[in-house]
Amino acid sequence: MSETHTVPKMPLEAKSPFELRVSLGKGVPETDVRTALATGDMGFLHSFTTGATVDGPGVRVVAWTTGCMWRCLYCHNPDTWTMSNGMPVSVAKAAGELRKYQQGLKIMGGGFTLSGGEPLMQHRFAAKLFSAAKTMGIHTALDTNGFYGDKLSDDELETIDLVLLDFKTWNPERHKHLTGVDNAPTLAFARRLAERKRPVWLRFVLVPGLTDDFDDIANLANFAASLGNVERVDVLPFHQMGKYKWQALGIPYSLAETDPPDQSLVEKVCGVFRAAGLKAL
Ligand code: SF4
Repeated sequence: MSETHTVPKMPLEAKSPFELRVSLGKGVPETDVRTALATGDMGFLHSFTTGATVDGPGVRVVAWTTGCMWRCLYCHNPDTWTMSNGMPVSVAKAAGELRKYQQGLKIMGGGFTLSGGEPLMQHRFAAKLFSAAKTMGIHTALDTNGFYGDKLSDDELETIDLVLLDFKTWNPERHKHLTGVDNAPTLAFARRLAERKRPVWLRFVLVPGLTDDFDDIANLANFAASLGNVERVDVLPFHQMGKYKWQALGIPYSLAETDPPDQSLVEKVCGVFRAAGLKAL
């Protein structure tokens, strides 16, 4: 597939992933999309952002992929659900973007994070990009819901220095209500990462009335603590920065009236993870 199919009017670099981006890959024929997914020579990216400090250790360059098979009620970036909303980018070009920051990232103890969307919807592209980043000596992190973790080989897992595992909620029924799918594949991936001793940061979005059941949180905390490879837990307070995207895309948004959690609830939830022996921030 040639990158000349679409000439994005938008730069690949964005100020933040909260920029609404749609139809950037609309002109790409379906057969080319399939080839890109099978080979991983080309991927679809919402954007690159630089300077993030919350998506792994140090200052990060983050590539945001498009495509996600889940439909989380609180998703902050529903424009990343559809693959063709992303810009078609070759692995060489994406690696070239990364190379610009190679020295700076090393000096600042930062690295590269692949997020989304769900990056493992494009697992061949992800594997190639991580391999390229490791060749440059750059620390790598994958931000994933874990559903397609089994698409990566053990060798490919070794090219990922840190997995930011997004765990939505423990109770399978609530998980299905929240995301549309079962959480068993995510649990299986978490166990596999533990067996292979791959470092994990658990990410948990706290949404009042949706993910704040304390029995669920305690079960998740105990599970995470039992794995032995979870280095820290990020409790991420729900916010409404993505609300305008739901409205702009015309997707019914059931959390329009939901307030972010107050600090005392965030602290209480961190306390549950800490009580299980985990470092929670
Ligand atoms: S897994 Fe992430 S990108 Fe996909 S719907 Fe959920 S929050 Fe959105």
